[in-house]
Amino acid sequence: MNGNASNKLGNISHVFLDRDGVLNRNLPNGQFVTCWEEFELLPGVEDAVATLNRWGRTVIVVTNQRGVALGLYSQQDLDRMHDQLRERLAAHGARLDAIYVCPHDDGQCNCRKPLTGLFEQAFQDFPAARPENSVMIGDSVRDIEAGIRLGMRTVFIIGDDEAASAEAVGARDLASLSVPSLSDFVKRMLGS
Ligand SMILES: [Mg+2]
Ligand SMILES: [Zn+2]
Repeated sequence: MNGNASNKLGNISHVFLDRDGVLNRNLPNGQFVTCWEEFELLPGVEDAVATLNRWGRTVIVVTNQRGVALGLYSQQDLDRMHDQLRERLAAHGARLDAIYVCPHDDGQCNCRKPLTGLFEQAFQDFPAARPENSVMIGDSVRDIEAGIRLGMRTVFIIGDDEAASAEAVGARDLASLSVPSLSDFVKRMLGS
């Protein structure tokens, strides 16, 4: 790690995470994750979140779920999935401090990333969180744009099949840092 990357990650107390492609594997062809059976945690995620917890970082998920608007799954299905996710993480000593969901389709709300409504809710609920002490970690350009709109630092997760896509190239250019996984980010951030 060089000094530059270190500065980019300094003074971060609040870690905002996208869900799909960061915590769990994206399904092929942009299919939606509709239930726990389709929810496959990515390698090292439990330990990465547990490490952030142990080092006193607040971990907040902000996720677009327009599958709800499309009728593919309900808010209740999502709540159930997230209960299972929390249970699975808890078994590894890991905890998400909050999960904020946008269930809307494009053009219906102020919270579908790259819009910033979910973050604004979080900043209200966590008064110590400010853009200057926060980072947004995501695998799509929407995540990176949302973070940039708020003046947050941003980290792009380079997905397996995304490395060469035009969107990925754009997101990498915009982001403060690009890494292969959440686990890599946590190792760099905490210098371990
Ligand atoms: Mg994603
Ligand atoms: Zn919304």
